[in-house]
Amino acid sequence: MEKFLTVCAALILTAGMWSAEPETRKIALTFDDGPHPVYTEEMLKVLEQEQVPATFFLLGENAEQYGEQVRMIAAQGHLIGNHTWRHVQVTSLPKEEAEEEILAVSSLVEELTGNGTSYVRPPFGIWDPELEEELDMIPVLWTIDTLDWTTQNVDWIVEKTVQDAGENDIILMHDSYESTVQAAERIIRRLKAEGFEFVTVDQVIMD
Ligand SMILES: [Zn+2]
Repeated sequence: MEKFLTVCAALILTAGMWSAEPETRKIALTFDDGPHPVYTEEMLKVLEQEQVPATFFLLGENAEQYGEQVRMIAAQGHLIGNHTWRHVQVTSLPKEEAEEEILAVSSLVEELTGNGTSYVRPPFGIWDPELEEELDMIPVLWTIDTLDWTTQNVDWIVEKTVQDAGENDIILMHDSYESTVQAAERIIRRLKAEGFEFVTVDQVIMD
């Protein structure tokens, strides 16, 4: 009987150890439409302070103007993606023009940072699969739209996002607003406390 109890205790202990194993749920923060001359740097400060990586889908016309911010994003180890040169709906253009909208951004990013981009977030979430083959790029959409560009209500953005957050979610935000910087900081803290691990978007897609 004593032996039996010992075995039981050992089993319970083992089960306990298993359930105590820290479960990490990956989640990715993504920022579109930048870089912005003010808020991209603010966002980078938050990310550095919280020690989390993110993914920035850049517009060519902004990257051309704010090259220093592009270099800072890369220097901090974040992933850079492509959001077309002028924020176009790729299916509304002849194929060659649509390709050029994307290729020009990749060349500029490579020129500025030494690395091109393999990931593209098509504006409006509208993509042409034929482009994917031609350009050999991976389209990245999102699973949580924070609608941060529609409101400056930080509480609302934070609550909505934290409630919806789950494993392998891809959160869409825009590093063009003070309210987004504040919301991102609170979202990161809340989700970290819930056991989420922030990763760049490639790590969620590859999962
Ligand atoms: Zn956009």
